[in-house]
Amino acid sequence: MKILLAKDAGYCFGVRDAVNLAHQTAKEEGEVFMLGDIVHNENVVKELEESGVKVVKNLDEVPDNKPILFRAHGTVPDIWKESNERAMDVVDATCPLVIEIHEEVKKLDSEDRKIIIIGDHGHDEVNGIKEQVKDALVVSSSKEAMKLRKMKKAGVVSQSTQRIENVQAIINILMTKVFDLRFVNTICFPTRRNHEQIKNLSEICDIMIVIGSFTSANSKRLTELAKMRNERTFQVTSAEDLDIDWFQKSDTVGISAGASTPDSIINQVLDGIKSIGKITEEELVYE
Ligand code: SF4
Repeated sequence: MKILLAKDAGYCFGVRDAVNLAHQTAKEEGEVFMLGDIVHNENVVKELEESGVKVVKNLDEVPDNKPILFRAHGTVPDIWKESNERAMDVVDATCPLVIEIHEEVKKLDSEDRKIIIIGDHGHDEVNGIKEQVKDALVVSSSKEAMKLRKMKKAGVVSQSTQRIENVQAIINILMTKVFDLRFVNTICFPTRRNHEQIKNLSEICDIMIVIGSFTSANSKRLTELAKMRNERTFQVTSAEDLDIDWFQKSDTVGISAGASTPDSIINQVLDGIKSIGKITEEELVYE
């Protein structure tokens, strides 16, 4: 059996930097607080908790003189304002690519365009983008786009982790509804690269394993992309989820992992697969 591991499987640089910053701040300050989980991965959250990174529901729960960390996928302006007014010690881990989306959306708004965000309703990153301007709309699917009324001027951005196919389908519909439409493709480059790699891998491998939490939209999207091309696609959260039967009659196993999956879990799953099948070649990295 041969293993092909997607070169950029796992943490994107935005998440990696945020997790490192959380660990470093906890080490220096004893504790650091966050509004919600830093990544959608239960194992990472547990590990962070053990090192002093605590999750709170609102700013009132942060003890005096303790730092609050703003996560990679952005924070709504009201929370920024409130924390500044209270002179809180803010550690900003917002990904620079998310900040770019905020800037783009403000530019489109200054051109008097109705703002449309292609993304998942209720997702923290989408909420952060939406709150940069007044009355932005969130559209998650073609079905929702079909229901929109006709409009004169609109500006469209997307959540950084969207599938390009979903964005294209929605833009095609918006072209029939909006007279003056401007679209800025804000799918981030780590997402584009990961999606390309998993699409190619799923076509050349007998079986695909996607490592990631089922609470991570990003991991679920990787699984969807692989499943569309390879029926024998399985998503696992850890090595314990691996099933020996999946690997029967499989010469080539392709592996990728969501942007919130840490290297330690990827390595555990790799070891698990190696112990199931006889590895005929060194594990190869797929670019
Ligand atoms: S998915 Fe992209 S935009 Fe989001 S944190 Fe990672 S690099 Fe930044």
